[in-house]
Amino acid sequence: MSTAVLSVGSNVGDRLAHLQECVRGLGPAVRAVSPVYSTVPWGGVEQDDFLNAVLLVDDPTADAHEWLRRAQQQEREAQRTRGIRWGPRTLDVDIIDVAGLHGDSDDLTLPHPRAHQRAFVLVPWHDVAPDAVLPGHGAVADLVAGLPATERDGVRRRDDLSLGTP
Ligand code: ADP
Ligand code: MG
Repeated sequence: MSTAVLSVGSNVGDRLAHLQECVRGLGPAVRAVSPVYSTVPWGGVEQDDFLNAVLLVDDPTADAHEWLRRAQQQEREAQRTRGIRWGPRTLDVDIIDVAGLHGDSDDLTLPHPRAHQRAFVLVPWHDVAPDAVLPGHGAVADLVAGLPATERDGVRRRDDLSLGTP
């Protein structure tokens, strides 16, 4: 059993379509999708707002690196180009957690090292899994409650947009 939490985001082109394509591309592994949020970009680069969501995925045959491979495959299919760090992207798929594992290798750090600070990860994750725990950081509900107002106010739920139900 390998249950993972993925954060998906887009701020270039048809942002909702990129997220929807990603859900479709991940196929039957997708068990739950969060509401969609409009998000002020992180990292100080001048760029358009993101749409973000969190996906819960499960596949007994997938280990952590397999989730990274599938995530990057979805980014390639969205014609993502890698420019400036934290810059605009058609699709970003980050691995937030895989079954509570801690791990660090050349290309994968688990849990995601910045997830605990990011409202655009924590808020939709909490929507879709209210009892979730971020390994090493505690209950996602507590992390959401502890977010600075500036960070919390940077994400806005978009009930007019949806990734559908898996
Ligand atoms: P970011 O998501 O931080 O804006 P990128 O999407 O360009 O940056 O990812 C840069 C690299 O981060 C990827 O090549 C990937 O190998 C590495 N990486 C390390 N840990 C993770 C993780 N938990 N999820 C996704 N990518 C990760
Ligand atoms: Mg990424």
